[in-house]
Parts: sequence; C-alpha cells; structure tokens
Amino acid sequence: MPRHPLRHRLPLLPLLLLALSACHGEGPAPNPSERSLAPTMPSQKFDPAELKARLDPEQYRVTQERGTEAPYTGKYWNHHDDGRYTCVVCQAELFTSTSKYDSGCGWPSFFTAENGKVATRPDHSHGMERTEIICASCGAHLGHVFDDGPQPTGQRYCVNSASLDFRAK
Ligand SMILES: [Zn+2]
Repeated sequence: MPRHPLRHRLPLLPLLLLALSACHGEGPAPNPSERSLAPTMPSQKFDPAELKARLDPEQYRVTQERGTEAPYTGKYWNHHDDGRYTCVVCQAELFTSTSKYDSGCGWPSFFTAENGKVATRPDHSHGMERTEIICASCGAHLGHVFDDGPQPTGQRYCVNSASLDFRAK
C-alpha cells in the first residue's frame, strides 16, 4: 500500500511563501498566474487618470504615492460614528468602528482589520523600519501597523483618513 505522498507536497509551501512575499514588494503588477497563487495580492488595478479625476489631490497622493496626511487634519481621526470604513479607491470594507480606538496619534487607529482585507509589506523608507499596510484588493496605501496597540491584538493600524470612506450603519 503506497504511503500518503505528503512529503512531496511540502516543498510547495516555501515556493508559495516566496511568491507571496515577492508580490508584496515594489514593482510592476504580477502576471495572472502569480495572482492565482496569492489571493491577497491586489486584484484590482485602476487607471491613474481615472483616479486623479475621481479622488481629491490628498487622497491621490496618500493612496497612490504612499503619502501621509498631517496628524489631526484628516476627517476620521476624531470620528466616532458606528459603521464601516472602506477603501476610498475600491470601496473594500477594511475596518469597522468596533475596532477603532483613540490612540492619541492624530490618525484613525484600529486594533484589527477586517479579515484578509488589509495586506502588509516592509517599509524601509525615511530611515525607519516599519510595516506598511495596503488595501489587499487594490494596493492603495493606507498607513502603517505598529505593535503598540491595545489588547486583544496589541496592534495599532494607523491609517490615513484620506485612504478611507465611511459608511454609517
Ligand atoms: Zn482598495
């Protein structure tokens, strides 16, 4: 009786992880075959001209050029209504008001994101080692995630208001 060929499958795992991490790097969009291996990869691509027409300049700068709004200036850092925060580019639901908390940092802060909706990648810019957060659906820059958040996760998703829309409950 043949043994279950588990050991023949295991070598695929490192390849998959490699593909995932490569997809989170900078560079051109992956080809469709890579996409099928990495379901969290941005799957929606928007025409820059269309986005420039639809978004305001700050929304475009933050989401497409990895900008950062000045603290205490965005429309959601001190916003406490019940509802869902969506990606301003593709409308994916990213965060809920139930995970929002007052971090005192001047940007909307959440201790968790909606499952699978926010992807991360290393950010070495500005002489810092940070973890960038992006919309898993369209790749829009959202902000960064830090390990100084409250329980139960201990994480702080620090998000630009300019990356978000809000839908009241
Ligand atoms: Zn998006």
